[in-house]
Amino acid sequence: MEAAIIDGKAAAGLLRAQLAVDVAEFTARNGAPPGLATILVGQDPASAVYVGGKQRACAEVGIRGFDQRLDAAATREEVVALITALNADPAVSGIICQLPVPEPLDGVELTGLVDPGKDVDGLTAASAGLLALGRPGLRPCTPEGVMLLLEQTGADLRGAEAVVLGRSNLFGKPMAQLLLAADATVTVCHSRTHDLPAVCARADILIAAVGRPRMVEASWVKPGATVIDVGINRTDEGLCGDVDFDAVRAVAGALTPVPGGVGPMTIACLLRNTLKAARMAAGENP
Ligand code: NAP
Repeated sequence: MEAAIIDGKAAAGLLRAQLAVDVAEFTARNGAPPGLATILVGQDPASAVYVGGKQRACAEVGIRGFDQRLDAAATREEVVALITALNADPAVSGIICQLPVPEPLDGVELTGLVDPGKDVDGLTAASAGLLALGRPGLRPCTPEGVMLLLEQTGADLRGAEAVVLGRSNLFGKPMAQLLLAADATVTVCHSRTHDLPAVCARADILIAAVGRPRMVEASWVKPGATVIDVGINRTDEGLCGDVDFDAVRAVAGALTPVPGGVGPMTIACLLRNTLKAARMAAGENP
């Protein structure tokens, strides 16, 4: 039997529709909408597309956008001054610094300067620490989006074998923490993992975030497993994920496509985090 396709685009659409309602209610209660500031340093075309998409998504749900752009030659002091001003601005609920930033700027250092209460990317040490401790906080958007998709599939995470391929700070590590918090039995793999296919084949939930086109083959997948493909790879034939979709579809129980799977959930979760940050700042229960 073919795997059920997990429609991230539809799920993100539903989430955004609900967020539009919640944002309107928040704005009515507080007299001002949540605000999201995006910081783009330089003219990297891919980053400009991402930032443009985030700003458009904000406008669609009633979040006020602050589109901050700095020249590629901006100094560390200029970026720090901008982040400091946004941290202090009550109209700004969330701040994201679009990565990568041009050298010699240090993206990790700059991201770390964002007020933890406005850290809607969930990437500061404070947010990572809250996640590791199981305390409430702002979670990174892509792993949070994956959790929402898993919830939608009805997959039972308690005690399940979950394998995360990739250990980045952006995705793999927070994904593992969220799965652990949901009582899954979690294995995190990386480039030094021995016998990767055998480890993956144990998984009831297999999540791939490596950045290698179609790396996960059908023989790596346990029959009936839920497979989440986070990878985004540009190939001559167009976009594809880290999972060999056509082959794995015949084995898995449920599978996300690329595009149209995890990607749309990432932006929806960014909007969700911005509302959550605004609620926290307003003293509401997020
Ligand atoms: P990253 O920082 O480059 O991390 C890649 C991870 O994959 C590393 O932990 C690396 O291991 C591991 N890896 C690389 N080659 C491997 C191999 N042959 N076998 C096993 N593990 C291997 O990437 P990332 O930021 O986590 O992103 C991963 C992918 O997800 C990319 O395609 C990215 O575009 C995509 N992504 C998508 C979204 C979305 O919204 N859909 C969001 C974020 C990322 P080592 O640590 O040992 O080097």
